Amino acid sequence: MAEAMKRGFATRAIHDGQEPEKLTGAVNVPIFLTSTYQQEEIGKNKGHEYARLTNPTRDALEESLCSLEGGTSAHVFGSGMAAITALCTMMKSGDHVVCSDNVYGGTARVFDKVLANYGLTFTYVDSSVTENVAAAIRPETRLVHIETPTNPMMAITDIAAVARICHERGVELSVDNTFLSPYLQQPIAMGADIVMHSTTKFLNGHSDGLGGVLICTKPEQAERFRFVQKCTGGILSPFESYLLLRGVKTLAVRMKQHDANGRVVARFLEGHPKVKAVFYPGLESHPQHGLAVRQQRGFGSMLSIELGSLENANRFAKSLRLGFLAESLGGVETLVCHPATMTHAAIGPEGRARLGITDGLMRISVGIEDVEDIVADLEQALDQV
Ligand SMILES: *Cc1c(COP(=O)(O)O)cnc(C)c1O
Repeated sequence: MAEAMKRGFATRAIHDGQEPEKLTGAVNVPIFLTSTYQQEEIGKNKGHEYARLTNPTRDALEESLCSLEGGTSAHVFGSGMAAITALCTMMKSGDHVVCSDNVYGGTARVFDKVLANYGLTFTYVDSSVTENVAAAIRPETRLVHIETPTNPMMAITDIAAVARICHERGVELSVDNTFLSPYLQQPIAMGADIVMHSTTKFLNGHSDGLGGVLICTKPEQAERFRFVQKCTGGILSPFESYLLLRGVKTLAVRMKQHDANGRVVARFLEGHPKVKAVFYPGLESHPQHGLAVRQQRGFGSMLSIELGSLENANRFAKSLRLGFLAESLGGVETLVCHPATMTHAAIGPEGRARLGITDGLMRISVGIEDVEDIVADLEQALDQV
């Protein structure tokens, strides 16, 4: 492992955890469709007992993702939400969490509508201002959970600065790294204790499977989350583990292209008269462009635009010929979403107003089609606005 860590990212994405299969030499990790494993005699097995505990396809995936984020263990779950729910099992009733106020809508929903019923308390702050995080930490705070860039306003949190504050106060920091992937951002290297992903997005990359992961840095976390996988059972299936292993092999090349296309599309939109504002950390106009340059390896392909009204947003959405109006992000295809009625419907009009999510805001996950075709499609759709 130590030797493997010295290799470059693209090499690790293809090889770590993905050695040829021992019996036949097959270069791809097989999909082990089995729920149980024959035991040689009572108390003697080949390292596997029951598939909720371990499955060789899933084990390979966990090794791969652990290597890419630079952690010490990885634990995959049936979705990003299952991973976040598992993360919260590190707490007990009475514990407090500080969370970015602009997080994925489903994260705030599971915190407030499910986990709050079990005695956990949550405070939401604009974590792009580091002092807000420091001010919200209390004696009973166990975890700070941030997303950077945020969805859909693309605000950036200074991971290293927040990690320092957390560690001074004996609090752990988890970072949802879904929007950038480990190729563009390495939170553990900046001090995060746990990295979380919805692997449904860029890690899978092909819009064909759900998944979630927690990547840890300490042995007690590994023990905890392995135990939670076994006890609560929300693990990733062998088939989806395989899809993700396959997706991860091309993560580096996909992210390079997503990043390149994202920059071109953001520039185009910034210069378009129908677009009132573009939220993209790669633009000099983004208030935290300098921080994004320092802590990210690129800017990725997530951006939001302000079109001024629901009617404008809908005309734009209906007129797309190449991009799809759809929830989700991070696939090879360009996906466009209307946060006010889709991802952020649940937080209500006041919640949206507080975060700056207007009815005219559209979020774009720029795909890796030819960028000229993406720009041409956006241009003709904007003509209809
Ligand atoms: C999609 C998403 C999630 C939830 O993941 P699922 O795989 O849909 O359960 C969490 N965080 C972010 C940033 C996401 O985009």
